[in-house]
Amino acid sequence: MDIQSKDTLKMMKIDHHFLEDPEDLQEIKETFCSYVLKTSGALHKIDPDYGLLLPDEESIFDDNRLEAHIRSTVSSFHDQCSLIMGGEKDGRVVNGIGEVYGVKNLMVADASIIPYHMDGNTSGPSYS
Ligand SMILES: Cc1cc2nc3c(=O)[nH]c(=O)nc-3n(C[C@H](O)[C@H](O)[C@H](O)COP(=O)(O)OP(=O)(O)OC[C@H]3O[C@@H](n4cnc5c(N)ncnc54)[C@H](O)[C@@H]3O)c2cc1C
Repeated sequence: MDIQSKDTLKMMKIDHHFLEDPEDLQEIKETFCSYVLKTSGALHKIDPDYGLLLPDEESIFDDNRLEAHIRSTVSSFHDQCSLIMGGEKDGRVVNGIGEVYGVKNLMVADASIIPYHMDGNTSGPSYS
């Protein structure tokens, strides 16, 4: 993250370097090859009409097609956990109600304090 300017109205420049690390890409590929395939297989047993559409099974087994799918659809738009909620002794930043350790009268109430990465949408938990 690059603050760029003292002007608070100027947008920060945020570059996650998403998928720059080959290990991240590999982990996502493995998620498709294990979790997604297993889940879709289990659902197919319950309802034979159920099947993967995007990516389809053939694409999951084709490394290049799977990578193209991941690069075009998986996003880094769900930032969370940069100020993790938890115990002070564990090095967390805010307590269970969002108060910042060591700073009086400062509370955080946004997606940054979510205690662990969720695999679902982040707006609902942020607003509630
Ligand atoms: C492109 C995109 C698509 C997304 N799609 C989904 C989706 O489909 N479903 C879903 O659940 N989540 C989605 N998300 C994620 C979701 O938007 C966020 O998780 C959620 O908004 C986080 O809430 P927040 O309160 O932490 O931060 P934000 O909603 O970003 O709120 C921060 C607020 O602070 C304001 N602000 C910033 N700096 C200052 C300043 N200096 N002074 C005053 N105000 C300031 C900003 O204008 C903003 O209103 C998406 C995110 C993106 C980027």
